[in-house]
Amino acid sequence: LVAQLHQLFTELVQLRHQVALNAGFANFRDYMFAALGRFDYTPEDTFNFHAAIRATVVPLIDEFDDARRRALALSTLRPWDLDVDPSGKPPLRPFQTGEELLEKTITVFQRLDPFLGQCLTTMRQMGHLDLESRKGKAPGGYNYPLDETGVPFIFMNATSSLRDVVTMLHEGGHAVHSFLTRRLPLSADKHPPSEVAELASMSMELMSMDHWDVFFSDPAELRRAKKTHLEGVLETFPWVATIDKFQHWIYENPDHTEAQRHQRWTQIFQEFNQRSVSWSGLEKFRPYLWQKQLHLYEVPFYYIEYALAQLGAIAVWRNFRQDPAAALAGYQQALALG
Ligand SMILES: [Zn+2]
Repeated sequence: LVAQLHQLFTELVQLRHQVALNAGFANFRDYMFAALGRFDYTPEDTFNFHAAIRATVVPLIDEFDDARRRALALSTLRPWDLDVDPSGKPPLRPFQTGEELLEKTITVFQRLDPFLGQCLTTMRQMGHLDLESRKGKAPGGYNYPLDETGVPFIFMNATSSLRDVVTMLHEGGHAVHSFLTRRLPLSADKHPPSEVAELASMSMELMSMDHWDVFFSDPAELRRAKKTHLEGVLETFPWVATIDKFQHWIYENPDHTEAQRHQRWTQIFQEFNQRSVSWSGLEKFRPYLWQKQLHLYEVPFYYIEYALAQLGAIAVWRNFRQDPAAALAGYQQALALG
């Protein structure tokens, strides 16, 4: 099956390269930069971004990994050691039902700014929330803007994990963005590109952390939740750089062989990820890791946006820590532009 996927991907790269040539571009990367409307940053800028991530974020992740190795009392980390709680605690359970998740999220939003709480309350009154997972329900989680009423819909599959709380806060950030742009005369202005859209949601994840005691009354659990989330925020960067750098190489070299693809992937993966983790005996599986990232097949070159937005969200959060009221006002004014 993996061999078939690789063959399919090879054909896909060839076809995409031909599309780019037909449209007068040198390669599919240049074609996609134009197609995605990236008029304010270049491939060179993204290369510099990758290098900055390597220089500033990767050493932090190396430290996290080393702390994890010591906590687990291991001489070497293996790939499966990365996703367990190092102290062996059971998963956090911040809520039981979708109703409780909503109730607590509204409280968090209200504490930040009554307007934010009002957005979610309006959605609840209009039946625009489907939060709990259930048998037969489609997977996923998203905020769906509805242009006619201007009141969006949040769909998700909450069970009762920390991840679900973060998703709810994230989608809540998108929802607030929908409310703030509902009066814009042009519908196109209500659908900004992801660099901006994800800034709304990722900033909300971070700014809301001051009020996560609503979900975690135990200070140790609260600390664990925040630490887990913040580490996850930083871990976004190296993976985004890995996927993005790999895609540039693929489409700059459309005639590469499968062996070259495996080699280049492994090189880039090792540059940014799991630098002290041993893959001994599992090396033959590592070249396939990128296959799990559906973007490479379905939405080529749509990925660096996550890191751009995350970096922006960290800047919003820095402003918030210095002056919460001013930061929240600035956040809402910026989002209201579309
Ligand atoms: Zn989002």
